[in-house]
Parts: sequence; C-alpha cells; structure tokens
Amino acid sequence: MNYDVAVIGGGVSGLATAYALQQRGHRVALLERQVRTGGNAISERIGGFLMEHGPSSLNAAIPEAQALAQTLGLDKQRLELSPDVRYRYLLRDQRLHRIRAHPLGFATSDYLPPRARLRMLAEFLVPAKAGGPEESVAEFWSRRFGRQFAELVIDPLVGGLFAGAAAELSMPAVFPALLKMEQRYGSVSRAVLAKRRRGGRMPGRRLYSWRDGMQTLPDALRVALGETVKLGVAVRRIRPMASGYRIECGAGSVQARCVVLATQPHVAATLLDGLDADGAEAAASIDAPPLATVFLGYRREQVAHALDGLGYLAPSAEQRTLSGALFASSMFAGRAPDGHVAFSAYLGGARAPQLAQAPSEELITMARAEFRDLLSVRGDPVVARVRQWPRGLPQYRLGHDAKVANLRAAECRRPGLFLTGNYLTGLSVASCVTSATETAARVHAFLTDRAGDIPGTGTAPERSATAYAAASNG
Ligand SMILES: Cc1cc2nc3c(=O)[nH]c(=O)nc-3n(C[C@H](O)[C@H](O)[C@H](O)COP(=O)(O)OP(=O)(O)OC[C@H]3O[C@@H](n4cnc5c(N)ncnc54)[C@H](O)[C@@H]3O)c2cc1C
Repeated sequence: MNYDVAVIGGGVSGLATAYALQQRGHRVALLERQVRTGGNAISERIGGFLMEHGPSSLNAAIPEAQALAQTLGLDKQRLELSPDVRYRYLLRDQRLHRIRAHPLGFATSDYLPPRARLRMLAEFLVPAKAGGPEESVAEFWSRRFGRQFAELVIDPLVGGLFAGAAAELSMPAVFPALLKMEQRYGSVSRAVLAKRRRGGRMPGRRLYSWRDGMQTLPDALRVALGETVKLGVAVRRIRPMASGYRIECGAGSVQARCVVLATQPHVAATLLDGLDADGAEAAASIDAPPLATVFLGYRREQVAHALDGLGYLAPSAEQRTLSGALFASSMFAGRAPDGHVAFSAYLGGARAPQLAQAPSEELITMARAEFRDLLSVRGDPVVARVRQWPRGLPQYRLGHDAKVANLRAAECRRPGLFLTGNYLTGLSVASCVTSATETAARVHAFLTDRAGDIPGTGTAPERSATAYAAASNG
C-alpha cells in the first residue's frame, strides 16, 4: 500500500503527528505495535478509582496540547487541578515538610536550614556565567542558589519528575529556559520577578487532566484518525527506495514517501540501523532506566495526613525507597470513590533502577511501608496495582544536545525521514504534542516541496521538560 507518510508508533507523539498531517490532507498510515494506542498514557478504572499508570497531568503553560484538546472537543471533560492542592511536601530528616505552593514558599518554610534560605535569597547577587563547559542540573542550581538548595530541592524535583539524577542531567537540555533567563536578566530570581511584574502567571497551579484521565487525549486522536491507525503492526525494518521508503512489518510492508519514527529511543536506534549509523548510535545512547508506579487506594479514615498537596518528593540523601508519591485523589476530582483516597507512588529511575524490577508484591509492600511511616496510613489498601516500565523516562544526560544534533543531522542525510518523541526535546505529554506539531509542519513542507519555508527545521520551538517540572511541582 502506498502512503504519503508512515508514522511508526501510536503514543501521543505519533498520534499527534499523524493527526496534524491528516488534517493537512496527506494520506497517512500510523503503525502501532500494540493492540492499543496511547503508549505511556494509560488510565484504568478500578472500581470507583482511576489509576494513571503513566502520566497523570498536563501542563497548561504549553499551548499546542491545549489547542489540540480543544479541537478534539475535550474541553467539556477537562479537569483543573483542585484548589485543595495548596502545598508541596518534601522529606527531610525522615519527616515531611509542608511548603506553600508560592515562589516564596521556601523562604517561609522551615524545610531549608536558615543558612540555605539566606543563600537562596542571595541568588540576585550571583553573576551570570559567561560560556564555559556544559553544566549539570546539580552544578547550575548549586552555583546560583547554593549547594543545599540543589541537594534538598532540585535533587528530589528531578528525581520525581524526570526519574533522573541531578548530577547526571544536562542543564541546557533539561532547563534551557532558565539558562536564557540567567543570560537575559543576570539572575533567575530577577527574571521571575520581571515576569510577575508584567502580569505573567507562574506555572505552579496550571495542571489539568480530563474526567477519564490522561488516556482521553490519545483515545480522541485514535477516533479522529479512524482507519489511519493500524494496530498490532510491529515495524521491523525500514528500507530506502529510489523515492521514499519501504516499511517492513512482519509478513507485510507499506510504502511511503516519508517516514516518521515516533517510538521510544531504543526502537528508533534499531530502525535507524542500516539507514544511518551515527543516528542509530545517538538514539541508542539515550537510556531510559526502569520505573515502577504503585497505585494504592484507601478509605479516607485510614489516612491521618491532611493530603492538602500535590504529593511529596524525597531527596536522594534521605535514602527512601520511593522517589515520591502523588496524592492522586487530591489533585483531580473523581480519582477515588466518595470517602476514599488514592496515591501513586514512584520507584526506580536513574536513582535506583534495580528497585523498579522487584516483584509487584514487594513494590506494594515498600509503598505501603512508606505511607504508613510518612502519612500515618493504617490497615490494608482497598486497591493496590503496579505498573512496571522496563524503560521509563529517557534521560537527558550531559551531552544530550549533541546527540539530538546528531539525530537532526541523520534526518538531513536521509531526506523524508523524520524523528519525533519524548527523548529529543521535551519529556512531557504537552511537549510531545508541541514536537509533533513541529514535526508535522516539517513533513508537510517536505511533501509540498517547501522545506525552505520552515526555519530551523531541526529544533522544537520550546523544550518543555522545564515547564513540566515547574508546573508539576508548583
Ligand atoms: C510513569 C510515568 C509518569 C509520567 N508522568 C507524566 C506526567 O505526569 N505528565 C507528563 O506530561 N508526562 C509524564 N510522563 C511522560 C509522558 O507520559 C511521555 O513522555 C509521553 O507519553 C511519551 O509519548 P511518546 O508518544 O513520545 O512515546 P510512547 O508513549 O513511548 O509511545 C511510543 C509508541 O511506539 C510504539 N512502538 C514501539 N516500537 C514499535 C514498532 N517497532 N512498531 C510500531 N510501533 C512501535 C509503542 O508501542 C508505543 O505505543 C510520564 C511517563 C511515565 C512513564
């Protein structure tokens, strides 16, 4: 069968790319290995509970995902983050500290030692760094806000949001907007104040989801794409032809002028093998350590904690088994039946990859023990479910931008080949939609012979690991 475009992978990235191309009138086939679409986005109803196996919220600061959801008619089902989410919790000295979800929250809480708070406030006075080698996330935050701020705030933040280790992650790849703020205003605090003076909203409270959870978005895209989506089709190999590509999938094959790889990086590496050795090597070098989610539901009276926040995060120095947990039923209405509460606990990632591979029963035991200790939870859960992700979140380690440049160069070396997905320029669902929109624009330009009209075709407009981070933790 001949198509204009074959999109490989039916997660949010592939679905959003295919949808944008179909809307522009191209003949598209989306090939998905599994018998369902959505990739990481899996929402499951268990009794009256709603478990998010993967993503649990979107960031409203990123416009493309909101626009797409609106076009798909999802606004009627939209849920805003509950006003009950007033605090964030961080763990220090084995107890939870409550911090107001406000830029001055850390200054007014006892979470940071007094010296660390003074040092944090002195960020205004730290000169901007001019050039020099690439900094890790830990180095940047230590330099600007002090070592203790980096260890007690940023370490748990990146552990929870990116399942990463701050000393390993690349500052320009993970928080590019903050580096720009430093360069433009001389200080991050000054940039934040300038934004507030201009009436800009801080992203803290701008999370949203839908009544039936995050899978709502890929489900709506699949319905809109109709016959375009081919399920249970695992692509094994891509062969270049005189014009276009032959995509081999098990017994059959399809031909297309363009091919968009919208898979996880390890699959992209396999499919690039034979097409572009350097690109394959770059994709293979982006690892995604195992991650596990444990969902627990209880009757409200079993939990003494107020649950008046998004959840809690643990610095690695605390050596806890969980990197953190979300108070799922506090975040959005309808996540637990009346009189019940629900939690999502996270284990593994770069900090402790082996932990995520423990048997399910052990993972449940670990989460229960921690909740007993930190949240004063008593008795057996009403529901307990585990999702293990053998490959969790791709790590934007030091040198990440060079890998992405290599992958963009592979696209140039193989005209008609395009890459999109969460391992390139943004991890969050919303940034996957942004990337997909940009990828579809580049594919359209290629098909209509107007590639020259798209400036900087290799880069996404805004990397939004940053926005995901800021929004998710208030
Ligand atoms: C536990 C967890 C929690 C998260 N929390 C959040 C959150 O709260 N907010 C947020 O914004 N983001 C969150 N994320 C990140 C976000 O969910 C992902 O980055 C995003 O969903 C990735 O989408 P994708 O389409 O790029 O990749 P994927 O979802 O991985 O999709 C890739 C698809 O390609 C298919 N595929 C693979 N190989 C082949 C093949 N050979 N042939 C055909 N198809 C193939 C796969 O089956 C899959 O469907 C979370 C992720 C995880 C794992």
